[in-house]
Amino acid sequence: MKIVLEHLTKRFPNRDKKKEDVVAVNDFSFEIPDGKLIGLLGPSGCGKSTTLNLICGLEKPSGGKIFFGEEDVTELAPEVRGVGMVFQNYALYPHLTVRQNIIFPLQNLKGDARLSREEMEAKAMEAAGLVQITELMDRRPGELSGGQQQRVAIARALVKMPGVLLLDEPLSNLDARLRLQTREEIRRIQTSTGITTIFVTHDQEEAMSISDSIVVMKDGVIQQIGKPQEVYDHPVNLFVAKFLGTPPINIFDGVVKDGHLRIGEEDVLDVKGIKDGEVIIGIRPEGFIPKENGRLTCTMSALEVMGRDNSIVSTHPLCQNPVIRSIVQADDVTGIRDGKVSFDLKPHKVFLFDKDSGEVLSFENGR
Ligand code: ATP
Repeated sequence: MKIVLEHLTKRFPNRDKKKEDVVAVNDFSFEIPDGKLIGLLGPSGCGKSTTLNLICGLEKPSGGKIFFGEEDVTELAPEVRGVGMVFQNYALYPHLTVRQNIIFPLQNLKGDARLSREEMEAKAMEAAGLVQITELMDRRPGELSGGQQQRVAIARALVKMPGVLLLDEPLSNLDARLRLQTREEIRRIQTSTGITTIFVTHDQEEAMSISDSIVVMKDGVIQQIGKPQEVYDHPVNLFVAKFLGTPPINIFDGVVKDGHLRIGEEDVLDVKGIKDGEVIIGIRPEGFIPKENGRLTCTMSALEVMGRDNSIVSTHPLCQNPVIRSIVQADDVTGIRDGKVSFDLKPHKVFLFDKDSGEVLSFENGR
């Protein structure tokens, strides 16, 4: 089922009547193709949950429209939209068994959709099979691990075979290892069922690893939509560049003069096509080439050996990050001498941003 959002807006009145409304979702327009998994990504308070609540019908929009396929569902009640939803706190009924929890949404079906006990049991087993918990059907939620509870919540959302699946921070209660395992599981279930899915998270790595496309949001406004790698390689502004990537992008204050990019006294890169003036520079950790007499000199702090790669940790007075992290090959210690380390830069891993607007500035030899 394709989902289309057209100029979707949600305002909440401010409790302090003298202050302006909170615009939680501001003029969203985008289309999610049938069968895809979209990651909705952004910091706390950017409007992710509100967007999901609008799509499933728990909130009414202040403006704009929502379509499922060709059907305008903007005014439809949540129960007839055919949406499955999984929340951060799984919200399982503690006194019911796993089987009863999964069957629960099927019990309210009315008219022709009504199912017999056997049909409900069969559907519950099918959903439980998808998330591989068929052997836990007679336990109560209190007798399950966090990961198992999460699977029950997913099975309950899947049991009606919804056209749309919404997942709101479904992994945040799990430990690191289980998070990794469960996110792969979600991707597997999503691809095998082909259900159009929106996955909300503030964890960029999580969103990038399982999504067909990501939507990066800030203060209720969409910043950028694209395939994870595309957005990483071509951020449209400083916010997106900083939000994606671990270790994070390294930000410097710089100046462009006659096609040369300067950091302090050093001429670090040729950047044709940019007018002279101050800029913000973003350098991805993989954008540094350690080199004797390289063009950028930093003060060496530490060499962290991480198996396949090394992380050179250094500092520079014009770097806004507390430390610069550069990822280089494990056996490469070139350019480190007398407490200093020097680098050349890979042009396609360097981004320049307008100092005032934060918009990206493209230069000839960059991306
Ligand atoms: P988090 O990651 O912290 O859950 P989020 O991105 O999901 O955040 P939302 O919960 O959608 O953000 O909230 C977006 C904005 O709308 C926030 O500024 C929030 O304070 C505001 N907001 C949400 N619900 C209401 C409400 N019922 N009344 C007033 N303001 C609200």
